[in-house]
Amino acid sequence: MKTAIITSDTSVKHNTGLGHPENADRVSAVTEGLKKINNKNIIWKKNKLFDSKYLEITHSKKYINDVETSFPKKGLFFLDGDTIVSPESKKATLDAVGSIVTAIDGVQSKEFYNAFCAVRPPGHHAEKNKAMGFCIYNNVAVGAHYLLEKYKFNKVAIIDFDVHHGNGTQDIFYDNKKVLYISTHQYPYYPGTGGDKEKGKHNNIFNIPLAAGTTSEEYLNAYEFVLKRIKEFKPEFILFSAGFDAHKDDPLAQLQLTSKDFYDLTKRTLNLAKLYCDGKVVSILEGGYNLGALQKSTQMHVNALLEFN
Ligand SMILES: [Zn+2]
Repeated sequence: MKTAIITSDTSVKHNTGLGHPENADRVSAVTEGLKKINNKNIIWKKNKLFDSKYLEITHSKKYINDVETSFPKKGLFFLDGDTIVSPESKKATLDAVGSIVTAIDGVQSKEFYNAFCAVRPPGHHAEKNKAMGFCIYNNVAVGAHYLLEKYKFNKVAIIDFDVHHGNGTQDIFYDNKKVLYISTHQYPYYPGTGGDKEKGKHNNIFNIPLAAGTTSEEYLNAYEFVLKRIKEFKPEFILFSAGFDAHKDDPLAQLQLTSKDFYDLTKRTLNLAKLYCDGKVVSILEGGYNLGALQKSTQMHVNALLEFN
């Protein structure tokens, strides 16, 4: 069985302007790093088109319409202070959503065992009706809705290890008992949400706020609570909101993880995935802004995915 890397040429054409941390070099660094992994079990795929009805479960029709009419003919347009689109963003946003749909279909059809989507823009800050924090459509949320609607799953877990809290994903699933959203993140920090008292209507939100300066050892100890909650929930499918900005070299936050920690947390999660859901795991890129750290950390993450083939 294979591990798929899903990516799209449009990911590097989504222009956010000069000097923006969330830029095209990120996906180039990731794909260049993954190409260096010498493993015949990697399969590279492009996303396919998807039915827009799944996007309309996650976001309101008005919001989707506002986004679709925001793409400028030339230059840049600001959806919020730091969420910027360019003409090429129209395809990139849809391809990013399409990548997780393609990944899920491939796992379900057993074309491959698990998958990592190396795409941008990221998604976890995007709420039902709001773009923010570099995010336009909430890719992982559409993936979870797709699993519930198309494949009729009843228990989907989203694990978000990006250093920022995924306020958008929490917002979208706050009252959906079929989706367990678990996040580890620096707190208090952008975007302000993610306190441990935010639990969702059905106790389906589990936030693990971490202080600036949290070390590898402290982080991996905290991650045991993620695994404990997964054991209780017994998911039928696991999605990773995979941000790598908790790395010690990341310029946007102050956690102290090493690249190897992303291997460890992935491997520990996959051990449980094998137990509870036939190893069904799809991961999608969120943050990570030091190019070298991002490249190394995504290699570690994918190495763990490959070991479970
Ligand atoms: Zn982040």
